[in-house]
Amino acid sequence: MAAIKAAQLGLKVTCVEKRGALGGTCLNVGCIPSKALLHASHMYEMTKGEMAHAGVLVDNARVDVAQMMKTKEKTVTGLTSGIELLFNKNKVKYEKGFGRFKSATEIEVLDAKGAVTKTVKTKNVIIATGSEPASLPGLTIDEKTIVSSTGALSLTKIPKTMVLVGGGVIGLEMGSVWSRLGTQVTVVEYTDAICAGADAEIAKQFKRVLEKQGLIFKMKSAVKGGVVQKDGTVKVSVEDNETKKIEELNAEIVLVAVGRKPFTEGLGLEKIGVKTDKRGIIETDDHFRTGVPGVLAIGDVIKGPMLAHKAEEEGIAAAEGIVTPGAGHVNYNAIPSVIYTNPEVAWVGLTEEQAKAKGIAYKLGKFPMKANSRARTNNETEGLVKFISDATTDRILGVHIIGSGAGELIAEPTLAIEYGASSEDLARTCHAHPTLSEATKEAAMAVYDKPIHI
Ligand code: NAD
Repeated sequence: MAAIKAAQLGLKVTCVEKRGALGGTCLNVGCIPSKALLHASHMYEMTKGEMAHAGVLVDNARVDVAQMMKTKEKTVTGLTSGIELLFNKNKVKYEKGFGRFKSATEIEVLDAKGAVTKTVKTKNVIIATGSEPASLPGLTIDEKTIVSSTGALSLTKIPKTMVLVGGGVIGLEMGSVWSRLGTQVTVVEYTDAICAGADAEIAKQFKRVLEKQGLIFKMKSAVKGGVVQKDGTVKVSVEDNETKKIEELNAEIVLVAVGRKPFTEGLGLEKIGVKTDKRGIIETDDHFRTGVPGVLAIGDVIKGPMLAHKAEEEGIAAAEGIVTPGAGHVNYNAIPSVIYTNPEVAWVGLTEEQAKAKGIAYKLGKFPMKANSRARTNNETEGLVKFISDATTDRILGVHIIGSGAGELIAEPTLAIEYGASSEDLARTCHAHPTLSEATKEAAMAVYDKPIHI
């Protein structure tokens, strides 16, 4: 996004990429392949239950994992090569190799053996090197038995058992995929809630839904280590945080999803004076400047949520800031989060806990999906929409949705927050009937008045 925008603004742009394919973690081993598997596994789940409910009978539904993976790969390569086309169209030069600072105005491109193949001279550099999975002592990721999200996206058969270390976004999305395909999934989560950062009420309801779907949760527990045994399974030691009792779990696959860390190693940041904090996060000002003239940083290597769409906004703002100093702005209050399970979970703005902690007087408005006609038509009645608005001004502070299509529904409240709308503004906007978005309208009505359908 940064490269294309900078080129659109008239700059001569080179993008240095080491993977051999464009699109970063998101396209290659993140958002896109995981959504392909979530979609495929959801279709399988539908054939087993939901479709029969609607009178569509499918006999003998089976899963062909190899075909599922092939389709996923095709989606990924289609999209990554699509970016190459966009680069060509916008005259962005693509250098394959590892980029390293020789100076603030020179980037060396290294080949796989570490030899410098080229040096690119430049006035400005945007560091957008992303993040990598955080590891856990005692669990060595081999991407076959003990896997990160990368390995979990490429399993060759459906494991009977899987232990997920971490009840965050990656764990719950990948756990959902394999659970739908028949794996017994156990989630070990260190804290007392899944989905750190989500509204507590929503996270609680989401956990109940996942439990109904067959996932087992071991909360307030830490994985202390795992040993691959002779039969190829892993013996995982799980310690209860309170009792300190150790339980051994056995699993064919262990997925380590305990967060990600910024990737800055080998970039030569120290050489040019770019500062990182204790966690390796590059320090930047509001215009993504690192303090070294001409060197900017965006995305997972800087502060804020590690989300592709947050990085995209920053990429555009950074490019605009290079061309017009002071231009380019990202509104961090209006960055949506989505968990692509079924039902989906999505939110934007403040959680109720954050509003409380800030001492803001707020009002709530809620509307359950089971009272929405379209959700009932689709037999997808799980979930609710929850609004948090300022008690005095009615300005929308946060919106939290659990339900089918939540990831699409959240676009409307995000726009509302971006425009500084009140819940009454949103509630008085006509919404098409019958749509799931009417649940958003009614939750907004519930803030300042009464909803109609409950
Ligand atoms: P996360 O931060 O979402 O969750 C990690 C979880 O692991 C936390 O709940 C934490 O308490 C727990 N944990 C940490 N150490 C533990 C231990 N020793 N034992 C048990 N639990 C432990 O991280 P993630 O799920 O790895 O995701 C990484 C990043 O990728 C996140 O920033 C996420 O936002 C991003 N991501 C986003 C999406 C999406 O937007 N749909 C999808 C995938 C990943």
